[in-house]
Amino acid sequence: MTSYRSAFQGREQIAHGTVAFHFEKPFDFGFKPGQAIDVVLADARTVDVQSGRHTFSIVSAPFESELTIATRMRDSTFKRALARLPVGSLIEIEGPFGSLTLHNDPARAAVLVAGGIGITPFMSILRQATHDQRKQRLVLLYSNRRPEDTAFLSELQSFEERNLNFRLIATMTLMSASVQPWEGQTGMVSEALLKAAAEGLSNPIYYVAGPPGLDAGMRQTLHDSGVDDDDIRSEEFYGY
Ligand SMILES: Cc1cc2nc3c(=O)[nH]c(=O)nc-3n(C[C@H](O)[C@H](O)[C@H](O)COP(=O)(O)OP(=O)(O)OC[C@H]3O[C@@H](n4cnc5c(N)ncnc54)[C@H](O)[C@@H]3O)c2cc1C
Repeated sequence: MTSYRSAFQGREQIAHGTVAFHFEKPFDFGFKPGQAIDVVLADARTVDVQSGRHTFSIVSAPFESELTIATRMRDSTFKRALARLPVGSLIEIEGPFGSLTLHNDPARAAVLVAGGIGITPFMSILRQATHDQRKQRLVLLYSNRRPEDTAFLSELQSFEERNLNFRLIATMTLMSASVQPWEGQTGMVSEALLKAAAEGLSNPIYYVAGPPGLDAGMRQTLHDSGVDDDDIRSEEFYGY
């Protein structure tokens, strides 16, 4: 895998406990929306080599000039090092890799199913598709506990206005703990919600991304609702 040096450019909070990190994009670094990189932090290599290396899907799209990742912050060795990384620091990235990339045939729609931080590969896909005005029907089913926890919610809502081929269905599973108003869907991603997402789409391909558990659960629900296993592509954020 190719290794690159990259400068850290800054961080911003994008939802409760969730932070985006921006890095310089090396001039010779190319990737497809949906792919991931390994971020290697020398400062986090305290326990073993693995503790200094974490995999993140790229949030930014290829047309953008920087590389962005996003993560739920935790008190882990790696994330502590990431949280205190000084702007301008040089880090190592490896990649890109991964095949959770959009299929080529725009005549077939895509239904993207994200649980929480699983939104990251789909942000790159949706940013690029909106930028290119790609003529492909795309539906995002996005599940979070509360609007406060929902990364990139306003950007995704703006895509609906800028991209007539895109539809967002966000659902909240813990509105009782929220102080923000929400008029959209509530509850887990169910067979009924998947059917609503696919309504009017011809022969869609399903993409699922998120922490472990979501992948297996969604595959079963899709299978039960009659979707062919060949039309389901998924990425589990193992290690999450
Ligand atoms: C292809 C791919 C793409 C990924 N993309 C992303 C992404 O875009 N964003 C992202 O955030 N992550 C992504 N991940 C996961 C990421 O690589 C890390 O594994 C994850 O963020 C957890 O890192 P950590 O430092 O919080 O925990 P680590 O210290 O690495 O955790 C080690 C183990 O302890 C558990 N653990 C740690 N802290 C807690 C806690 N507080 N409570 C319960 N259990 C805990 C973890 O579940 C894990 O099993 C991706 C993984 C893969 C394979």
